[in-house]
Amino acid sequence: MDTKKIGLNTICTHIGEVKDEQFKGAVSPIYMSSSYEYEDVAVKRYPRYYNTPNQAALGEKIALLEHTEAAMIFGSGMAAISHALMAFLKAGDHIVLQQTLYGGTYNFAVTQFEKYGISYSFTTGWQPEDFAKELKENTKVIYIETPSNPLLTITDIEAIAKLAKSKGIVSMIDNTFASPVNQNPVDFGIDIVLHSATKYMGGHSDICAGAVAASKEHIEKIWQASICFGGSLSDQTVWLLERSLKTMGLRVKEQNKNAMVLASMLEKHDAVERVYYPGLASHPDHELAKKQMKGFGGMLSFELLETIDATAFLKALKLIKPSMSLAGVESTMLLPTKTSHSLMSAADRKAQGIKDNLIRFSVGIEEHEDILADINQAITTVTNNQVLV
Ligand code: PLP
Repeated sequence: MDTKKIGLNTICTHIGEVKDEQFKGAVSPIYMSSSYEYEDVAVKRYPRYYNTPNQAALGEKIALLEHTEAAMIFGSGMAAISHALMAFLKAGDHIVLQQTLYGGTYNFAVTQFEKYGISYSFTTGWQPEDFAKELKENTKVIYIETPSNPLLTITDIEAIAKLAKSKGIVSMIDNTFASPVNQNPVDFGIDIVLHSATKYMGGHSDICAGAVAASKEHIEKIWQASICFGGSLSDQTVWLLERSLKTMGLRVKEQNKNAMVLASMLEKHDAVERVYYPGLASHPDHELAKKQMKGFGGMLSFELLETIDATAFLKALKLIKPSMSLAGVESTMLLPTKTSHSLMSAADRKAQGIKDNLIRFSVGIEEHEDILADINQAITTVTNNQVLV
């Protein structure tokens, strides 16, 4: 099979499998062995070397999905992010990070870098010039996230990749919100693509995993650091992730469709102040999103009118789960202030535009009519029980 010519769903279904040579089963067997022969073998295998049969096969699938030469699987998205960052940074180096970032990545930067002698700057916005102005002689990494969590800002991937290349700086992107279905940053020149595979890759809210996709050269460097840090994923979960990826194309395309319909409806809703979704023509970077994304994703955020208690609204939902994390087949909502961005100071959240009543909405695969009906009944419930001011 010419893997360069096959489509997304074919890659998801057929590539990166462990062939069952013994029984000819249709799906990959799981190799749980933590001990492998070392004499006369091409590869010395060990789970913490990220190269067991299941780990290696899944790496192939993810590399092909992200248009890279290689990929590695990790125990969580933060393991993938932290191992990749620490592979490219040492004492005396500087990193520029996008202002709007997943709270855990922000927390990693502000609590860990300093003790390793690494300096860092957050941009004050997400335009290319905001990054250019933070660069220093010793900047080694530029780190972006687009669409960003939770405000769905869009960063110009190509412009950032060009800026980084012109200065010999490594560029990294957190591609979790888009998933490889909607965005392939390497096509725009980015060096290293990071994923919380806990999200769209897993897609069923039952796996915690991470992935890094890049050139063989960059993966080799990340591997050297990662065997020291030891953030590998158990083969049982690797197998589950490989199984989940078979339906990623189907799931994400359905979530794209639902999110587009719901964002448009919420934008017109009397009880809604503002909607953040890159698929809306009203999004300030809609044109840029169209250029670099194949679909606009299943994530959106919105603010209810200030007169409506957002916590009471979430409690009144009957179908949509008010729960942590995102990207499962079921719709979920949360308040970033109380969850994903709770470790960020109130002042930093305010500077980023994350209001206390901002609701992050991970749109599932249910019928959009049912999702909207649930939102409407929850709004009616809280406004009837609440004295409007
Ligand atoms: N990146 C983004 C955009 C996320 O939303 C998350 C988690 O919510 C992470 C990274 C971290 O992933 P994990 O929780 O799998 O470590």
